[in-house]
Amino acid sequence: MSAPQAPALCRATVDFLARKHGHFIGGKWLPSASGETFRIFDPATGADLGECAAGDATEIDAAVRAARAAFEGPWSTFTAAKRGAVLWKISELVQQNFQQLCELEILDNGLPTPLAQYVCGMFVPEFFRYYAGWPTKIEGATIPASPQGKLPGEALSFTLREPAGVVGAITPWNSPLPMVMLKIAPALATGCTVVLKPAELTPLTAMRLVEICQEAGVPDGVINLVNGYGAKAGAALAAHPGVDKIAFTGSTAVGKQIVQAAAGNLKKVTLELGGKSPVVVFDDADLEQVIPGAVRACFFLQGQNCMAGTRLFVHEKIHDKVVAGIAAIASAMKIGPGLDPSSEFGPLISGPQRERVSGFVEAGRKEGAEIVCGGKAPSRPGYFYEPTVMTRVSNEMTPVRNEIFGPVLCVQAFGDDDFERVARDANSTVYGLSGSVWTRDIGKAMKMVRRIDSGQVSVNMHAAIDPSMPFGGNKQSGWGREFGREGLEPYLKTKGVTVTW
Ligand code: NDP
Repeated sequence: MSAPQAPALCRATVDFLARKHGHFIGGKWLPSASGETFRIFDPATGADLGECAAGDATEIDAAVRAARAAFEGPWSTFTAAKRGAVLWKISELVQQNFQQLCELEILDNGLPTPLAQYVCGMFVPEFFRYYAGWPTKIEGATIPASPQGKLPGEALSFTLREPAGVVGAITPWNSPLPMVMLKIAPALATGCTVVLKPAELTPLTAMRLVEICQEAGVPDGVINLVNGYGAKAGAALAAHPGVDKIAFTGSTAVGKQIVQAAAGNLKKVTLELGGKSPVVVFDDADLEQVIPGAVRACFFLQGQNCMAGTRLFVHEKIHDKVVAGIAAIASAMKIGPGLDPSSEFGPLISGPQRERVSGFVEAGRKEGAEIVCGGKAPSRPGYFYEPTVMTRVSNEMTPVRNEIFGPVLCVQAFGDDDFERVARDANSTVYGLSGSVWTRDIGKAMKMVRRIDSGQVSVNMHAAIDPSMPFGGNKQSGWGREFGREGLEPYLKTKGVTVTW
């Protein structure tokens, strides 16, 4: 029987890919002043997908000016209700462009079809619908103040919530469309304007989404996009004095550079950075849940996932059974291009990323870890790497300490008296993004939830993401929160007003 063929791309995708991609500034697609470009490629095959303009400080400056003009001009006349209607319309247009967005996201990033369908058909539309409800509910407060001895009835003090201004949004390649959505939706809900710099490895759905925003009624200049490399376009955006706030998602190392670049005009900064999240499994946990749950926690998006549960702490009584179960599922996963609907596990984003992952696995091997499954790249085109499970690891080992951002699970056993040690070990990296606890004992679960120093901890599931639930990092996993009501805060300023008469 021959292998199933990837379905043909839809007309809208073919037409989109045939374009010469530029920057979206003030409502128009423009080339780079320098004429510089970069190539876009498919990580599943290495095939060339087209050419894209590479911007620098010139395009960033033009985009910031367009964003400022729109912020002070047409966008400031939109009522809260009208901004909500625009966000709702974006959600509808994402659904109408479902097939094209799925195909572009898969070609750019390599994720499997079912995941792309969930992202483009549910997650992104729901997120825009959630934020569509917020503009009319962003409220200040009345304050019982008595400035300069004013008596009640002689003064009225209240707060106004105002948009932060021009937002510079910088996004990574690991989940391209959701990462852009996470910046654009709260910015539009609060009345900010945006200059977006998507990862140069994955610009396709970002470009399509800014067009969709325009089609939904967002005025020219409200959402601008400059393609290009982080070191040029990203750095220029982070440093630009006309930007009021930076919303960055990416590595902790670059996050630190963003903070320094932003210091020039003390722009506000939110950072969603790396992770090395613990998964703690007690011996009373339901193994029917734990084993597939741990596989999803680590290998979702080929492990290129900031929330990935990459450090598994499992009670010694069930250690062998859990490891064998995970290895059995991981080894049986069908590796292949995301466009093949039968693929369960896609490629890594690029050759260098695969080298990086392989380097961490080799370091673990040298330091004494046992590779239970995976540990190599399959021989086929594209940047694939097998889902890998390592045991006999310790907290000091290179693959346990560092964010690998690839499909590598490190497993450690613990005993009956090790509750506090596991809690300490769970917190033994510089990160604090996500984590999960697996047990039928709710008291034990809640005690461990309290001990884990992460922005998010789930019980009997991993990475419980929802538009309404705040998400973000503790320690070096970031500053601030995205999602939910809290996700609006970094896009707002508070003005205290007192009126006397
Ligand atoms: P990087 O930090 O390398 O890049 C992120 C973005 O920053 C890209 O657009 C990149 O541009 C840009 N960039 C790079 N250098 C600079 C600079 N000096 N100034 C301004 N911008 C710059 O991360 P990756 O793209 O490799 O993404 C993986 C990382 O993202 C992982 O650490 C992961 O944990 C983290 N992440 C965190 C999430 C969270 O919510 N906490 C979610 C998803 C990922 P270019 O790529 O074009 O060079």
